[in-house]
Amino acid sequence: MNGPVPVEVLKQHLIDPEICIRCNTCEETCPIDAITHDENNYVVRADTCNGCMACISPCPTGAIDNWRDVLKAEAYAVEAQFTWDELPVQDDALAGRGVIGEAAQGNQGASGGGASSAAESAESTESTESAEPVPGGADLVRGSLVPPWSAARPYVNLYTHKTPVQATVVGNYRVTDASTESDIHHIVLDFGKQPFPVLEGQSIGIIAPGTTADGRAHHARQYSIASPRDGERAGYNNLALTVKRVTKDHQGQAVGGVCSNYLCDLKKGDVVNVMGPFGSTFLMPNHADSHLLMICTGTGAAPMRAMTEYRRRRRMKGATGKLMLFFGARTQGELPYFGPLRNLPKDFIDTNLAFSRTPGQPKRYVQDAMRERAADVAALLRHDHTYIYVCGLKGMEDGVLQVLQTIAGDAGLDWQTLWQRMKAEGRLHLETY
Ligand code: NAP
Repeated sequence: MNGPVPVEVLKQHLIDPEICIRCNTCEETCPIDAITHDENNYVVRADTCNGCMACISPCPTGAIDNWRDVLKAEAYAVEAQFTWDELPVQDDALAGRGVIGEAAQGNQGASGGGASSAAESAESTESTESAEPVPGGADLVRGSLVPPWSAARPYVNLYTHKTPVQATVVGNYRVTDASTESDIHHIVLDFGKQPFPVLEGQSIGIIAPGTTADGRAHHARQYSIASPRDGERAGYNNLALTVKRVTKDHQGQAVGGVCSNYLCDLKKGDVVNVMGPFGSTFLMPNHADSHLLMICTGTGAAPMRAMTEYRRRRRMKGATGKLMLFFGARTQGELPYFGPLRNLPKDFIDTNLAFSRTPGQPKRYVQDAMRERAADVAALLRHDHTYIYVCGLKGMEDGVLQVLQTIAGDAGLDWQTLWQRMKAEGRLHLETY
């Protein structure tokens, strides 16, 4: 007698197109290339994803943590996912019957078995348990998946694409020399009486008005917050962004960045749709004797400015940890906030600038400046209360990790051990694009 044919139900991993801010973090993190994207959406290949969960924790919005129980034979193809504006509804008849797939068995504990909510995923990054390597994935992740132990608890996803909050522009000015090509703006947004709690190192999404050529609403673009938790002006419910007007793509072809041009052209009084806040790991330690080693290029200075300013305000209340900054730009004129940075007292922050295109001078990157200060960087590396933050161009990540390895090795430190420990302890944060 024949029994019923077993029906295979797959717990299919999907990305919510309404929440996703297209930051590429998941695609970069996935150890087996199961995630891809087109100009519309980030999607997961059902036949490749093994549910290793390496992508879940780094996602700043939680868009990554979505699952549908579907007949395996009818799993959503990437071509279909590319066209979605929202996730499909769960078929009630299949709900709760899905399994992630044979390759994933044994890995399901990484995010509570898969379909945890975005809030849970943000919470999980705060527990010490998540410092354990995620099976099959996190060893390939180069920075921390957990915040510093003493970081304040962040709020995330209070406002979404469907329910954005409106902020009013109260300031917009250029922070690079007018003679340079690099048009970087400091933009201050005020939230009035609406709650918008943020921490240094978090980011927000901006939704530019209008539609794409094919009539879709623009996706939100992500920007790091450049001001401290208590406001660009202390005690005010406002925050600042550092935005570079995009006029060329990575290949040097002329393009008009939709959101960056929109933001750089805003006038005082204009109203902006904001999502967020996002991010629950790239956060600063709260304990007063923690040291910050900050390495950035160009507009990657935004979170460093936020952390530095928060420390400056706390210094008066007894914060004692050291601040060391390595900051790279093409020229002095292209370095955002050059003037204010120069005015910070030397005994408060140890600032090291690296310019790559100063006429008549050799190219100099942040890595070169770090090498020159190897003894002082090594002293920070030795310290259990040192937290490293790297933000800016993708290309700098390799170079910075290599120079840290060299500096550690020359100082007699085993970089592989130190690196793993700093990652697990929420002391090595990388945010590069
Ligand atoms: P940029 O002006 O293009 O470059 C800044 C400096 O970095 C230049 O001196 C550049 O040198 C140098 N550089 C290039 N490759 C490098 C490498 N491999 N190692 C070290 N230094 C290198 O920078 P930008 O246009 O301001 O871009 C900054 C990046 O930060 C962007 O990718 C942006 O997405 C990202 N970011 C921005 C924010 C934000 O809130 N705005 C937040 C996080 C990250 P040369 O070009 O002369 O070689």
